[in-house]
Amino acid sequence: MGIQIGLNCPACGGSLDMAEGENVVNCKYCSSTLYIEGDAGVTTIAFKNKIQRTVAEQAKDSWFRKGFKARDLPRSAKLLEVYPIYLPFWYSNIRVMGWICGYEERTYSDGKGHTRTERIPKEEMVLQEYRRSEIACDPGDLGIKFLRNMDGESSFEDFEMIPTYEATTSKDDSLDRMKAQALSDARRAANVPHVTFEKVHVMPRSLSMVYYPVWVVRYSYRDRMYIYTIDGVSGQVISGRAPGDPLFQGLAITIGTSVGGLIAAGGLIIASTGTENSAAFGIGGVIVGAIITFGAYLFFRHGSEIIEGDFSDKKYGLGGLGNIGKEIGNMVGGGF
Ligand SMILES: [Zn+2]
Repeated sequence: MGIQIGLNCPACGGSLDMAEGENVVNCKYCSSTLYIEGDAGVTTIAFKNKIQRTVAEQAKDSWFRKGFKARDLPRSAKLLEVYPIYLPFWYSNIRVMGWICGYEERTYSDGKGHTRTERIPKEEMVLQEYRRSEIACDPGDLGIKFLRNMDGESSFEDFEMIPTYEATTSKDDSLDRMKAQALSDARRAANVPHVTFEKVHVMPRSLSMVYYPVWVVRYSYRDRMYIYTIDGVSGQVISGRAPGDPLFQGLAITIGTSVGGLIAAGGLIIASTGTENSAAFGIGGVIVGAIITFGAYLFFRHGSEIIEGDFSDKKYGLGGLGNIGKEIGNMVGGGF
């Protein structure tokens, strides 16, 4: 006779039934194999490695060709090491519920220079489940800090075969950080600009240790060492570093500075026509031109390497435009 122990399967969220004293259970919904730890019901789950060495090696063929990586990379890179590891992650399903109240300010103008500001009250109910994860060991140079996937066959079969990184970070500290993230996500979703009252509960519904298989591939290119990692369940590239292509970078700098220069020159021409407002437009053009030129410079100053994944020195990858804006802002603010 199974008893409800108030635990949920980390893979599918289903509730777990198990007999007292048992510590291995198969989820009846997704058939994941789980270990239950005695204290505070932490479940442990391991995903089965699904890919072979050759798949990890072949991933380079598509990944090396993607983006602005050095064009001779598929030909010139030499694979040095290819091996699987299990990485430990803390994983929690966190429920955030409650109320966030406050107001939004809207300013109206009547065209005669009169403005009036109205406060629109907002009462937002929060009821959301967040799945959060955090690596439970020092990831070193792997560029992996979070779980990408919780969908796969769960078994401990490969534990004998694949080296496992031990969990070294504090469970409680990690849970605190995940709870704080869930709360800030919930606040952002509620979107109340001025909060006057907030009553929100942040309740972890499960805490799990997830062991996830990752293939590490180390390679060299022109006597420099690089790395990429492959998801052992999906076969996708998780993270990696690769040399950028000098031609693409050169082209981009040329185009960036040309466009920037043209806009700046256009600005000067407009400014020199001397008609009303032209000076303002002209100065605007010069500034926009300078920003584009400077942006191209910033992007490709760091562009000698193409970086994907959770690397702390990643400055300008996908979504790196915000950082460029920030850097321009800093330099303008710093009075250069
Ligand atoms: Zn399940």
